[in-house]
Amino acid sequence: MRQPLVAGNWKMNGSRLSIKALLDGIKQGIGGVTKAEVVVCAPYIYLPDVASQLQDSPVVWGAQNLSTEAAGAFTGEIAASMLQDFHCRYVIVGHSERRALYGESDEIVAKKFAVARAAGLKAILCVGETLAEHEQGVTESVVARQVQAVIDLEGVAALADGVIAYEPVWAIGTGKTATPEQAQDIHAFIRSVIADSDAGVADKLQILYGGSMNAANAAELLAQADIDGGLIGGASLKAEDFLTICRAAN
Ligand code: PEP
Repeated sequence: MRQPLVAGNWKMNGSRLSIKALLDGIKQGIGGVTKAEVVVCAPYIYLPDVASQLQDSPVVWGAQNLSTEAAGAFTGEIAASMLQDFHCRYVIVGHSERRALYGESDEIVAKKFAVARAAGLKAILCVGETLAEHEQGVTESVVARQVQAVIDLEGVAALADGVIAYEPVWAIGTGKTATPEQAQDIHAFIRSVIADSDAGVADKLQILYGGSMNAANAAELLAQADIDGGLIGGASLKAEDFLTICRAAN
């Protein structure tokens, strides 16, 4: 049995005040969510606040990115050890916004996955096709290549310590969601790619869906056999919507 996992990706949103209110709301309503693990991935600068607000709650926290480097002259970067200092359990790697806007290649993303893993962080590896790739019908080859980059660098066993999030880029922040059947097909495909290398790792790996998942469509998506949870952008900024998704995953 794979534990359900719901991760909020706040992206570059919020303020000290709004984050306090959001976390107060989540903490108030999280009591009934006993099976699913719930994580919020905050902007770096708010991690100390988030850590102190969540320390006595079942909700864990993480970051949205990390450096490939351990320390040194890398202005503006944040190392895995710094995330550990603030007791992050998770870190997102290879979000499509990082790939598209900051030039992160499959190789860079694989290195970030490896660096996170070496530090004991659970990396949430984002994969997914763009709209053009979707229309060309090359979704499977794109996600297989993105997953394979991690396997090539570290071996398939590395995936046993992480999580994959399938996020069709055309569904992120657009209000367009993959149908439950479309999402299930790609999740099953990703699991089969990993099973080709190691069936045990594939069976245990949590694969999340991301892309306009919200309070209204979460239950149907999360009911699919190979969808083990969600990576939630916009809907993670409203406590009630996020809690509804967490309850659906539960
Ligand atoms: C995301 O950015 O990871 C995401 C899934 O965003 P949204 O839920 O807003 O589509």
